[in-house]
Amino acid sequence: MTKQPIISPVLFVRDLSAVFPDGNGGLHALGTVTFSVCPREFVCVLGPSGSGKSTLLRILAGLLPPTTGSVAYEGNQQPRIGFVFQQANLMPWRTVLENITLPLEMENTPADTARQKAREMVELVGLEGFEASLPRDLSGGMAQRVALARALVHDPDLLLLDEPFGSLDALTRERMWTELSRIWQARQKTVIMVTHSISEALFLADRVLVFTARPGKIKLDLLVDLPRPRSDEVRYTAHFGKLARRLKEAIE
Ligand code: ADP
Ligand code: MG
Repeated sequence: MTKQPIISPVLFVRDLSAVFPDGNGGLHALGTVTFSVCPREFVCVLGPSGSGKSTLLRILAGLLPPTTGSVAYEGNQQPRIGFVFQQANLMPWRTVLENITLPLEMENTPADTARQKAREMVELVGLEGFEASLPRDLSGGMAQRVALARALVHDPDLLLLDEPFGSLDALTRERMWTELSRIWQARQKTVIMVTHSISEALFLADRVLVFTARPGKIKLDLLVDLPRPRSDEVRYTAHFGKLARRLKEAIE
């Protein structure tokens, strides 16, 4: 008897590769990768610098055409995408609330509705009281919360996060893990997140894809079967240690 999967994937990545012209036969950034992602799955991508992780996210977001292969979304729909980068990239002359309404303005959402939705996001990411602040008055962690709110405000089907906490100090980063985990549970989003951190990947993900050095290929597809919700405690369990060791061995 064949076992039927209970949930079918929403995102299909097939034979994807990226070669950048370099005047010397081309720089092979991303090898050939094939994987699929289920709805509400949290997938982390881990791998050495230059292994094509950001390139993969840019292809998934439709910002860059792949050299080979395809990205298909369930029902051949064009998914709505939320993207968060390592730097918050906020508009310095806009307030927190005005930065968050930006994607809605681009979709011509009426101003009242946009502000209402942005306020909900402010609450979700825990920035109440800072709606009228300017980016220069925010800490790095707060700026990333705004970036996360901006990425979520138009209710994307797919959330792409490219080392979003890479520029934060260790304590702030760990606080952001808990926050992101809570937001992900509340909003039920499908997430693909690039990270350098094994602990971050294991704290957040359902699955971790480990990339080889350039051209990046999938070396390991690891199921993270740690119970949720995950607290700090999970990081001191034997099973966490075992999964961390498998990731470390795959990276090395
Ligand atoms: P990662 O995010 O895993 O560190 P990237 O996807 O940013 O890696 O880059 C993979 C490789 O492709 C790197 O060697 C990088 O220099 C190169 N690269 C990325 N974007 C471009 C581009 N637009 N033009 C030329 N080379 C690029
Ligand atoms: Mg990168």
